Amino acid sequence: MEIYRQLIVRNTKHYSMSNKSEISPSNIMNTSDTTNTCANCGKEGSDVTNTCNKCKSVMYCNAACKKKHRHKHKNQCERRVAELHDEKLFQQPPPEEDCPICMLRLPMLTGGRTYMPCCGKTICSGCVYAFRSRVTKKKDDVCPFCRTPMPTSAEEAIKSLKKRIEVNDAHAMIKMGCHSAGGQFGLPQNMAKALELWHRAGDLGYPAALYNIGNSYKVGNGVERDMKKALHYWELAAMSGSLFARHNLGANSSAGYMDRALKHFMMAASYGYFDSLKSIKTMYQSGHATKDDYAKALRSYQANLEEIKSDQRDEAAAYNDENKYYKSAA
Ligand SMILES: [Zn+2]
Ligand SMILES: [Zn+2]
Ligand SMILES: [Zn+2]
Ligand SMILES: [Zn+2]
Repeated sequence: MEIYRQLIVRNTKHYSMSNKSEISPSNIMNTSDTTNTCANCGKEGSDVTNTCNKCKSVMYCNAACKKKHRHKHKNQCERRVAELHDEKLFQQPPPEEDCPICMLRLPMLTGGRTYMPCCGKTICSGCVYAFRSRVTKKKDDVCPFCRTPMPTSAEEAIKSLKKRIEVNDAHAMIKMGCHSAGGQFGLPQNMAKALELWHRAGDLGYPAALYNIGNSYKVGNGVERDMKKALHYWELAAMSGSLFARHNLGANSSAGYMDRALKHFMMAASYGYFDSLKSIKTMYQSGHATKDDYAKALRSYQANLEEIKSDQRDEAAAYNDENKYYKSAA
């Protein structure tokens, strides 16, 4: 599994380097005991410390030199900024969290995971199923992790989410935001409130919140429709680990940027996103990806499956379709 992810990251680096700029390594360093060269007048010295604030890749002896050089440097600067952005965008995102009970990585599909508003833990369908089948039916339904009774009414559910939000639980924020957006659990439909909560969760780096904000911009829900902003938030979401967002970035890549689309799909597929795998297949069939690309995507998708599969989770899925936690590539 790791190998495929690293492969993708390495390819990414290769890609970003292929867009070579004329920056020489000596201009990149910026430590006090290093001699830098002014990109404008060529002066060398440890006092050449005025960095281009955009690309941070070239140095000048002073602001005047920087200003003079601006028109010459502009194209190179923009290219370097794009390169740096891509390096970040295609970096290996943080891994999905583990189920706190079985310690196996959580599946990305909602059928494979349940958020507990009592303790804020997300527990896998296998552990919830195993726990529920062990406890007697007469007993109150409790959280498999902290044994707190589950909310029995809409009011109680909202109350427990509010408590979690008070302790800065980003997951609770996004849930509450979704309930506000949909006017569920007795809450009035309020898109402004939803966006406010998603922004709070997004500031905490919660990928699903950033993804939702992107979606709102795409369709103009609670905000003015703005595809540029949608892509921006999807990029932030993808960098924090949202596979939905990464898939959308692939699907919304402009014509002529099929290599970028493929890279997004490859990454999402390697983390278990089925639709990305399907997209790679389509790209292969239409000649936009090689047979090798598709084979690699299949292998990495399968390797991810091996990581999240467990007998307990399979039993839960066999018991109820709602517990299905992956889509089979076969
Ligand atoms: Zn100079
Ligand atoms: Zn620059
Ligand atoms: Zn588990
Ligand atoms: Zn709990």
